[in-house]
Amino acid sequence: LPALPSNFLRAIIENDLAAGTHTRDGMPNVITRFPPEPNGYLHVGHAKSICLNFGLARDYNGRCHLRFDDTNPEKEEQEYVDTIIDSVKWLGFDWNWQGPNGNEVHLHHASDYFDQLYTMAEYLINEGYAYVDSQSAEEMAANRGNFNTPGVNSPFRNRPREESLQMFRDMKAGKYKDGEHILRAKISEDAMSSPNMNMRDPAIYRIRHEHHVRTGDDWCIYPMYDYTHPISDALENITHSICTLEFQDHRPFYDWLLETLSKGGFFTLPVPKQYEFSRLNLTYVITSKRKLRQLVEDGVVTGWDDPRMPTIVGLRRRGYTPESIQLFAERIGVTKSDGWIDMSTLEGCVREDLDPKAPRATAVLRPLKLIVENFPADASEPCSCPVHPHHPEMGVRNFTFTRELWIEADDFMETPTKGYFRYTPPVGDQPGSRVRLRHGFVTECTGYDKDDNGNVIAVRVKYFEDSKSGTPGSDNYKVKGNIHWVSAADCLEAEVRLYDRLFTDPQPDAGGKDFMAALNPNALETVTAYLEPGMKDAAGDQRFQFERHGYFVADRVDSQPGKPVFNRIVTLKDSWTA
Ligand code: ATP
Ligand code: MG
Ligand code: MG
Repeated sequence: LPALPSNFLRAIIENDLAAGTHTRDGMPNVITRFPPEPNGYLHVGHAKSICLNFGLARDYNGRCHLRFDDTNPEKEEQEYVDTIIDSVKWLGFDWNWQGPNGNEVHLHHASDYFDQLYTMAEYLINEGYAYVDSQSAEEMAANRGNFNTPGVNSPFRNRPREESLQMFRDMKAGKYKDGEHILRAKISEDAMSSPNMNMRDPAIYRIRHEHHVRTGDDWCIYPMYDYTHPISDALENITHSICTLEFQDHRPFYDWLLETLSKGGFFTLPVPKQYEFSRLNLTYVITSKRKLRQLVEDGVVTGWDDPRMPTIVGLRRRGYTPESIQLFAERIGVTKSDGWIDMSTLEGCVREDLDPKAPRATAVLRPLKLIVENFPADASEPCSCPVHPHHPEMGVRNFTFTRELWIEADDFMETPTKGYFRYTPPVGDQPGSRVRLRHGFVTECTGYDKDDNGNVIAVRVKYFEDSKSGTPGSDNYKVKGNIHWVSAADCLEAEVRLYDRLFTDPQPDAGGKDFMAALNPNALETVTAYLEPGMKDAAGDQRFQFERHGYFVADRVDSQPGKPVFNRIVTLKDSWTA
C-alpha cells in the first residue's frame, strides 16, 4: 500500500481503530456511505465525496455504501438513479462487500426505511419528542425567529400526545392536504430559543401527495432529510458519516435524534458520528445541480454529458480517466477550510495519468498543403515511429511520405518573427529554412503559393533523400525546426472538437454573480483535421496524445466505426496561467 497522505479524517479513523470504538462482530470498523439525492447528475464535487468515502473504506479495509437519499418524490427520477450508479462504477468503486457470510450488496435507498422511519416517528410522539403542528407555513416561518431573535412556541406544541399520534396516523392515511399539518421534533422545553436554528423544532415529516419512483403511492407523507439521514446511517451501521461543512449546524440534531432513538432500542450501538469537510470549489466551474440544470435547459450545452460540463458523465465524455479523477481527489485532500482549487490541478492530473499510457498519434488540426517538389507524384515512402516514446512494447505506427502532405498552417511564416524556426521562404539569395518532417525527411522551403485573395494555400519544399529519420547519416542535418505532418494521399479526415473551459471567470457564480454572462464563447471550436491513417480504427473512449496538441479521446457518442470524432481533453501545457 502506498503511504497514505494524512488528513484529519484519517486521524479520526486511526484513533477510533486504536481505541476499538467500532469493534462489532462480523462488521468492519470503518463503514462509510455516499448518499446522493437522485435529482440530477453527479458533478466533480460529488466525485470528491465519492473518492473520499469509498477511498477511506478501501484504505482501512472497511466498506462504503451507495445510498440514494430519495425522500423528495417530486424532484427524483429513475434516470438519475441509473446515471449515479454508472458514474460511481465508472469512477472505479464498488458497493459489494465480501463479509463472513459471503457477498453483501450495499446499494441502499432511504425509501427502504420508510416503514422504520415511520415507526420511529410514532415512538418520538409517544415519548413526547414530537408533535403535529397545524400552523401555516408562513406562521411557522415567522414563529421560528432568526439568528438574533428567539423563536416563539407553536400554539400546537403542547398538543396531547394521543392527539398528535392520531393526527399523524391520519396524515399517513391521506386525510389531509399537502401542507395542512407537519410533524416537528420537540428537543427540549426551550428549543425554540436555541441559538442553532436547526434545533428549533425541526420538521421531520410533511404531507406530499406525490408518486414515488420506488414506493409508488404507498405514502403521502415523506420524512425530511435531517430526520432520514441519521436514521439511515444508523440502520446501516455507518461508523463515519462524512458530509460537507454546511451540515455542521445540523450535527446537534443528528446526535440528539440518534441518542433519543437509541433509548428505544432501534439501533445496534455505537451509533454513527458525523464529520464535516469543506466542499470542492473548482475555478472556472460551477458545482450546483440547479445551475448545471439551467445550462442544460437553456441549451447552452448539448446535455448533461456535454464534454464542457463538470458532471461525471461530461468529464467522462471529455476524456478524463477515472484514475485522473481519483488522483485529483487524493491530491486536493480534505480540510475544514473553504477555498478554491485551481482547474489547472485537475487538468494536470489527467496529463499526468495519460502521459505514460496514451498512444501517440499525428493530427493536423489547421491544415496547409505542403508540396515536396522533388518527390515523384506517384511514389510513396513508408515511414514508422514508436506508438509511445518510452514504451517500445506498445509497437510502431506506420504511415507514408508522399509528394503532397498536410502541415499546420502556423508552421509556415511568410515574414518570420525573431526566433521562428519552422518554414520560411527564400529571400533574395538566402535559401528558405530547413525543417525536419518528424519521422520523415529534412526539407528546405523553396517557395509558396497564394490564392487571389493573398492567402497562402501551399508551401513548396525540396527534400533530402539521405536525411530519412533513423537512417545512417540523417543526423548530419542540423535543423532547428521539427514539425508533424500527414500524407495528403492516405490521411483520415475527421471532425475534431477543441474544447476549452466553459467559463472565462474563475469564480463564475461566486457572490451571486450571473454565471451566464461569464460563458466562454470559445469553449468549443470544431475543426476538420487530417490524421494519420491508423486513426480510422479509433473506437469510442480511446485516448491519444496528438503530438504537439494535447490529449484527445474518440467521442463515445458520436464516433462511428471507421469514422471517429475526437474531443480535446486538455492541451499539452496549461495556457491559462502562462
Ligand atoms: P447540489 O447542492 O449541487 O444539489 P447536493 O449536495 O445537494 O448538491 P447530494 O446529491 O445531496 O447533492 O450530494 C451527495 C453528497 O455529495 C453529499 O454528501 C454532499 O455533501 C456531497 N457533495 C455535494 N457537492 C459537493 C462538493 N462540491 N464537494 C464535495 N462534496 C460534495
Ligand atoms: Mg443534498
Ligand atoms: Mg445542495
